[in-house]
Amino acid sequence: MSETTFRRIEHPSPRTDAEREQILAAPGFGQDFTDHMVSIDWTNDEQGGSWHDARVEPYGPIQLSPAAAVLHYAQEIFEGLKAYRHADGSIWTFRPEANAARLNRSAARLALPQLPEELFLESIRELVSADAAWVPGGDGEALYLRPFMYASEAFLGVRSANEVAYKVIASPAGNYFGGELKPVTIWVSRDYARAAAGGTGAAKCGGNYAGSLVAQQEAAAHGANQVLFLDPTHENSVEELGGMNVFFVFADGRLVTPELTGTILEGVTRSSILQLGRDMGLQVEERRITVDEWAAGVASGEITEVFACGTAAVVTPIGRLLDGDEVIESPGGTDVTLKIRETLLGIQTGTADDIHGWMHRL
Ligand code: PMP
Repeated sequence: MSETTFRRIEHPSPRTDAEREQILAAPGFGQDFTDHMVSIDWTNDEQGGSWHDARVEPYGPIQLSPAAAVLHYAQEIFEGLKAYRHADGSIWTFRPEANAARLNRSAARLALPQLPEELFLESIRELVSADAAWVPGGDGEALYLRPFMYASEAFLGVRSANEVAYKVIASPAGNYFGGELKPVTIWVSRDYARAAAGGTGAAKCGGNYAGSLVAQQEAAAHGANQVLFLDPTHENSVEELGGMNVFFVFADGRLVTPELTGTILEGVTRSSILQLGRDMGLQVEERRITVDEWAAGVASGEITEVFACGTAAVVTPIGRLLDGDEVIESPGGTDVTLKIRETLLGIQTGTADDIHGWMHRL
């Protein structure tokens, strides 16, 4: 695709340097947003539709008809990736083409239009260049980028929309679970499933998260940080957390993660860790693993570490699994977990060699 020209509409009253500095001094997660956003619109036509009116505009409320299809039928998808500031001031993203590809896989499942990879990359570049001052450079900090696409057409018939909007917003982010790296507690969801065969589990669509919130509430009520979803149709094999994939480290050097069955999200962090695991000489396996195998493996010492991974939280040890009244304590090991975390963070923040060419300079 040839380069698209983005119209630039500067924010008439951007935050002052002092206001921005105050936010950047202690970034949270997803609570403060930069001065601008990117918008591109899509309209269907006899030629299969086209993207048009690409612009960088002031961050602010969206005009949406109360009949917009997204509000009724949840035809919506999104992505999540980070921009990192390296020591020399340059700004980089991690494997953005993987997010572009996943956005298009989600789009295909939700009957939304494909967004050319180059347009996705340009949308990121445009926003980060407009709001470069908002990319924090502190330890564990980054600018979280949230591209999303939704059915904007005002029409209540149930069919795929003929008008769609794509946008990118950005939010300075600190450490996801706050401060130091302490193991998280996970609640096993036995009453609620996240996805089923043929459903939308492999897509990053808002509806998947809407359906996970009640399970997340249940987890919080039991003092857990995150919820673990199972596949009840396959002997309760482990699927993933509400927003992260899961890995198991075995004493004999195996690194195991649930295979992609169409009901879990293919995390960019997950794919990267599979590669880093191979680089470290671990024997990497993608296969089904049940909660029973988890409990037995921890009890026998066969499983030495369990961790969760995703863009927001990077790599976080799982300390404890709450399964109803049963508690599976973490094996307590963190050697491999920390090594993987440090290698990944090193590549992302520019302190380790990017041997796989994963970093993309903006
Ligand atoms: N699973 C789910 C359900 C998620 O929402 C996420 C976050 N995108 C992940 C896994 C991890 O994906 P990634 O490594 O691409 O952030």
